Amino acid sequence: MEKKFVYDIVVVGGGPAGSSVAYSAAKNGAKVALLEKEESIAQSVRTSGVTWIEDTEKFGIPPDCYNKIKNYSFCSPNNQVTIHDSEPRVAVLDVRKTFQWLAQQAAKVGADLFVNTIVNDIIKDSNGKIIGVKATSAKEELEFKCKIVIDASGFQSVVAKSLGLVKQWKRFGVGAEYEAFAENVDVDTWWLLVGQVYSPSGYAWIFPLSHNKIRIGVGVGKPESSVDPTERLKELLEKKPGPIKNLGKITPIEFHYGLIPNEGLTRKTVYDNLILVGDSAGQANPLVLEGIRYAIQFGRVAGKVAVNAIESGDTSEKALTPYAEIWKKEILSKIKSASKVQKRWIGLSDEEWDKEIDIIKELKPNEFIDFIKADFGLSYMIKLATHHPKLAVRQLFNLVKNTSIKN
Ligand SMILES: Cc1cc2nc3c(=O)[nH]c(=O)nc-3n(C[C@H](O)[C@H](O)[C@H](O)COP(=O)(O)OP(=O)(O)OC[C@H]3O[C@@H](n4cnc5c(N)ncnc54)[C@H](O)[C@@H]3O)c2cc1C
Repeated sequence: MEKKFVYDIVVVGGGPAGSSVAYSAAKNGAKVALLEKEESIAQSVRTSGVTWIEDTEKFGIPPDCYNKIKNYSFCSPNNQVTIHDSEPRVAVLDVRKTFQWLAQQAAKVGADLFVNTIVNDIIKDSNGKIIGVKATSAKEELEFKCKIVIDASGFQSVVAKSLGLVKQWKRFGVGAEYEAFAENVDVDTWWLLVGQVYSPSGYAWIFPLSHNKIRIGVGVGKPESSVDPTERLKELLEKKPGPIKNLGKITPIEFHYGLIPNEGLTRKTVYDNLILVGDSAGQANPLVLEGIRYAIQFGRVAGKVAVNAIESGDTSEKALTPYAEIWKKEILSKIKSASKVQKRWIGLSDEEWDKEIDIIKELKPNEFIDFIKADFGLSYMIKLATHHPKLAVRQLFNLVKNTSIKN
C-alpha cells in the first residue's frame, strides 16, 4: 500500500540547500516536506565545512557550531607563507551540528522532515510536468504530490536527472578526508598544501577544529588528475611531508568522502514546477570548491520565490525565474573570475607554485580572503591589477583579468 501526501513544496535532500529552502518556504507560509535519504541529517559528512564568519553570522548559525581561524598558511614544496590577521574571518564548521541546526530551523517554522526516505521516482502530469515524487522509507512506498519540487539532492541531482534535464557532471572535484585526533594543533591556523606531493590538480588541507582535532584531506580535480585522493591521503599520513609532521601523532576518528561539481554555472536551474539549488545547480566556488554558503543563501531565495509563485497561482518556469536572476546577479561574474584563477592553478608546476606563494605573500589578509572566497568581480580585479602597491600582485590580477575579458 502506498502512503499518499499532498504538500505545496517538496524538497529533495536534507543538506544545507534543502534545509534552507524548507526553512524559508515554511516561514513564508507554505506546507513543506523535506525528504532525506539518510537515517539522520548529515549522517555522512561529505565536506570539510570551511566557511566565512561573515556568512555564518548573516545566517544566524550559532558560534558554538564552529572553530574560528585567523591565520592562513599556504605551502608549496619549497616555499610557504602565513598571513596573520587581527581577527578571525574563517569558520571551520562542526558539520553535523550545523546541518542539523539548519534542519531544526526548518522544523521549527513548520516544515515536515522525513528522514530515511529515498526519492526514487518522479510523478508527471499528462503534459510531462513534474507534480511530485515517489520515495521509499523502511520498505514503505510513499507518494508526495505538490505544486513545486526542489531538487536539493546535491551532486547526484536525482530529480533533474530522472526528468532527463541534466546528465552526470563531467568536471568535478573529489575529496577524501579524515577527522582526526592530532597531538599538536595550532587551533587558529589553517593550512592549504599545494604541489605534486600533496595533490596534482588539486590541494591538500589541514583545518583545525579544536586543540586536538583536525580535518586533514586531499582534493583532486577530475578529469585532470588520475590520483585516488584516499590513497594519497594515506600516503601523506605515512610520510608526513611539510607541516603535516608538526602535527605529531595523527589518529583518524572518522572518514569523509565527497564529490563536488566543477563546471561553473552552466546549468539551467528553473523549469515548470521545479527549482535546482546548491550542488544540484552547480553553485560552487571552483577555486577551493566551497558551496555551503551558496547552498544556504540561494536555498533561502528559492524557498521565498517558490512561495511567491504558489501565491500567484503560477508555478511556471517564468514565475520561478526571479530565483535564477537573483543568484546569477550575485555570483555569475565572481565564479567566472574564480574559474580563470583555477585554470591557472591547475597547470602550475612545483617551481611555479613556489613563485606563486611569493605573490600570495604580498596580499593583505582581506585581499587574500577575498581572493580565496572568489569575492572579486571584474571591477575589483581591475582595481587590484592597476593600483595594488606590489608589482607581483598587479601582474597576477592583470593575468586573471585579461583571461576573464577574453573569455
Ligand atoms: C571533499 C569536499 C570538501 C568540501 N569542502 C567544502 C568546504 O570546506 N566549504 C564549503 O563551503 N563547501 C565545501 N564542499 C562543498 C559543499 O559540501 C557543498 O557545496 C554543499 O554541501 C552543497 O549542499 P547541498 O545541500 O546542495 O548538497 P549536499 O550537502 O550534498 O546535500 C544533498 C542531500 O541530499 C540527500 N539526497 C541525495 N539523494 C537523495 C535521494 N534520492 N532522496 C533523498 N535524499 C537524497 C543527500 O543524502 C544529502 O543529504 C566540499 C565538497 C567536497 C566534496
